[in-house]
Amino acid sequence: MAPLSVWILGDQLLRGHPALLAAERLVERSRIRVLLIESEQRKARLPYHRKKLVLLISAMRHYAEELRSLGYTVDYVRAPTVLEGLRRHVEAHRPARLLTMAAAEYRGRQFQQTHLAELLGAPVDVLPNTQFLCGRYDPFPDPDKKVILETFYRAMRRRWGLLLDAHGEPVGGAWNFDRENRKPLPRRGLFIPAPLRFPPDAITAKVMQEVAALPQGVGRVDGFDLAVTRDEAQKAFEDFLLHRLPNFGPYEDAMSRSSAVLFHSMLSPYMNIGLLDPLDMAQRAEQAYHSGHAPPASVEGFIRQIVGWREYIYWQYWRQMPGLLTANCWGHTRAMPRLFWDADTPMNCLRHVVSRVLDLGYCHHIERLMVICNFCMLAGVDPAAVNEWFLSFYVDAYEWVVSPNVIGMGMNADGGQTATKPYIASANYIHKMSDYCTDCRFNPKLRAGENACPYNFLYWNFLLEHEETLRANPRLGPAVLGLKHLTPEERVAVRAQAAHFLEELPLYSGEKR
Ligand code: FAD
Ligand code: SF4
Repeated sequence: MAPLSVWILGDQLLRGHPALLAAERLVERSRIRVLLIESEQRKARLPYHRKKLVLLISAMRHYAEELRSLGYTVDYVRAPTVLEGLRRHVEAHRPARLLTMAAAEYRGRQFQQTHLAELLGAPVDVLPNTQFLCGRYDPFPDPDKKVILETFYRAMRRRWGLLLDAHGEPVGGAWNFDRENRKPLPRRGLFIPAPLRFPPDAITAKVMQEVAALPQGVGRVDGFDLAVTRDEAQKAFEDFLLHRLPNFGPYEDAMSRSSAVLFHSMLSPYMNIGLLDPLDMAQRAEQAYHSGHAPPASVEGFIRQIVGWREYIYWQYWRQMPGLLTANCWGHTRAMPRLFWDADTPMNCLRHVVSRVLDLGYCHHIERLMVICNFCMLAGVDPAAVNEWFLSFYVDAYEWVVSPNVIGMGMNADGGQTATKPYIASANYIHKMSDYCTDCRFNPKLRAGENACPYNFLYWNFLLEHEETLRANPRLGPAVLGLKHLTPEERVAVRAQAAHFLEELPLYSGEKR
């Protein structure tokens, strides 16, 4: 049989890639050529965070080395576009067929499934994506069934036998330990073990130089210290299990000026490019519970994120695409505020969080949701603009995970399909869960007036503006009931201050980065 080619996408750096395994069932390893394409067009689709580009490109180049060390022949092609890379490969090697795994993202999958075989003049097999657990087993295949996270999560726990007793019931007697979690950091402080850092090797150092020379991008390559190989990613995971998992649950929603990562795992960048496997991670976390190393609330909290939220988000993405990208059920149209590019704002929480994102390409979940998206939602920013900002600024950003989280959850623009209520809150939430308000120029307790926190007047303004819609949502009833405590004068003051603030808020006008 003629040689086969296996095309592996840059975010599918899996051990035992399904297309490789399928090819090895047809021919011996020496007759397989693996194709990896670094596309200039793909790197420039948006001005991406430079640390994200370094991670992705360096991880791809290291993966090529990993495959070579396993005896595969690798054709690592640098081309202007993916299509051009594919054409060059096919012209040079004339494979009998090309095997590949379906892309995690809509546009990539459309490209693979529609015209690829015709364009290349060779048969193409697009295998199902097994990078996600719900790609291996879809718990709710009926596209018309509305499924909330909790139902989805329990089905996944049952299917994969995670944290279940001999009767198939949840260990510890509960599916959910949220009541024990969601604490702020103690005022007296707490030692937080920093995540492992990985100094750049020669391959990464070269990539850093190349990325620094690109004409556009966000942030800097300097200080890059992420894992770029499977071994390093595994070490980062072991380090999390050992040092941070035990406190993960109680403090997963806490925010602090002192550190971007508290007891969080900081593993999403590696999971999203295939260096870590979600099932293996969930099973290892479960072992930490059985060995008594970590308490049930932390282990359940972590497994909920991995096999609950992460999988649910991917599942929602495929359920809602392609309409998700243009969903805007609140009709918001404001451009993205400029502060998201330069962190130039007197609002302490936003200044800290945006600076962090500019520096690291990372902030944790609650900061993404309750600081950034909350502000954008209350300020009426266009969900598509927020989506693009997130895609650009984070090291772990890919459309399948950004769009349901931002357009669905953060901006509640998909008609409540991803989350049953908008995640909006006044300053009270940030004040309770962080130390940002302590030295802020604004007062988190004031609703209106010169020192009032903008989250407050924007929040009450939002409730007043959307009172009818919110009243119809049973989960937001209590928030709207709070409006009865506002005097007519306070209503007028809140509306006027919000209007003035939004009018004066500098907007980003697209200048080059
Ligand atoms: P931890 O807090 O340690 O959680 C463990 C893991 O759970 C994460 O690594 C991640 O793989 C998974 N996880 C938890 N929640 C989610 C979720 N809602 N969606 C998907 N995975 C989840 N995650 C990304 O991977 N890339 C993104 O670009 C991204 N953008 C987001 C934008 C918004 C507005 C929101 C609200 C969430 C976003 N998330 C994104 C989800 C979540 O915030 C990040 O996965 C998490 O903060 C990554 O940090 P960590 O690895 O320290 O996570
Ligand atoms: Fe943020 Fe308001 Fe607190 Fe300042 S007072 S840190 S703006 S929530």
